[in-house]
Amino acid sequence: MLNETDCLPDGLLEVAAEGLAELLGGPTLIHLPGRRPEPLFVSVLSHGNETTGFHAVQALLQGYRDRELPRALSLFIGNVDAARLGQRYLDGQPDYNRIWPGTGHAETGESRMLQQVVDSMHVRAAFASIDVHNNTGINPHYACINRVDNRFLHLASLFSRTVVYFIRPLGVQSMAMSRVCPAVTIECGKSSHEYGLTHARDYIDACLHLQSIPDHPVASHDVDLFHTVATVKIPDQVSFGFGDTTADLRLITNIDHLNFRELAPGTQLGWLQDGAMLQLEVRDDNDRDVQERYFDVSDGRLLTVRPFMPSMFTLDERIIRQDCLGYLMERLLPE
Ligand SMILES: [Zn+2]
Repeated sequence: MLNETDCLPDGLLEVAAEGLAELLGGPTLIHLPGRRPEPLFVSVLSHGNETTGFHAVQALLQGYRDRELPRALSLFIGNVDAARLGQRYLDGQPDYNRIWPGTGHAETGESRMLQQVVDSMHVRAAFASIDVHNNTGINPHYACINRVDNRFLHLASLFSRTVVYFIRPLGVQSMAMSRVCPAVTIECGKSSHEYGLTHARDYIDACLHLQSIPDHPVASHDVDLFHTVATVKIPDQVSFGFGDTTADLRLITNIDHLNFRELAPGTQLGWLQDGAMLQLEVRDDNDRDVQERYFDVSDGRLLTVRPFMPSMFTLDERIIRQDCLGYLMERLLPE
């Protein structure tokens, strides 16, 4: 079910993300030649509602219509069916950024297809890998890595001084590609923001121009490195809402404003309905339940109990159900 081609499909640089399913017929890996042969690998639309990466690549390639790319570029366009409807993934589909090699999920047609993508990039000796994402809350632009390694840190810090290291969830693109080459996930803010597009385009262009990726340490004043220490989900049986609601859990209406801020213990995140138990699903890197380490309830108020910094907290109820409420991070000092 993977389309793989050595030429740019007609119309790719003009089509809207919604039209990709019709144009391509499915997930597609496109290899374009360039002056240096080891390709930069860029993947976009792992999540169908996150269009910045695709638009950035369109803008980039329009600029190279009449000239050679400085380095070969392999482009993977992921969940085109979800992109047609502007959704993260469709009902009945897996989340495309949880089923790359190394996933804990059972094998499916989609996971075999992604294995094929990684194998193809392995054979081509990929130079570096960039997976482009958006998020739905208020977040700065930042880069994620899954290995604390100088080359990975260099690649990440070219995009942003804010760098997040994580090893959960499993099955993400950058984790799979980190076995092949230096790999990052870049988070470009909301899909609708024009600045995300230009930032991603310029970053990909800068990476295409790199001759090599330095192996020496990144200066500690050039990078703010955080470690995602826990994932926060709301179990399906717990109702939740924002503002005026009788749901079990009422969250503060601007919870996404807390992203990337160091929260003092005692920060209020919401309220529990009378008699409701605190039932978040807070899991650390070892899949242990660590709710009590981070949260407590006092007089019906949901409070933090130790310092941390959230990321990706969102008000989008569909995303909260499909993915998670957000992540908890702690600062990590580079070696
Ligand atoms: Zn995403």
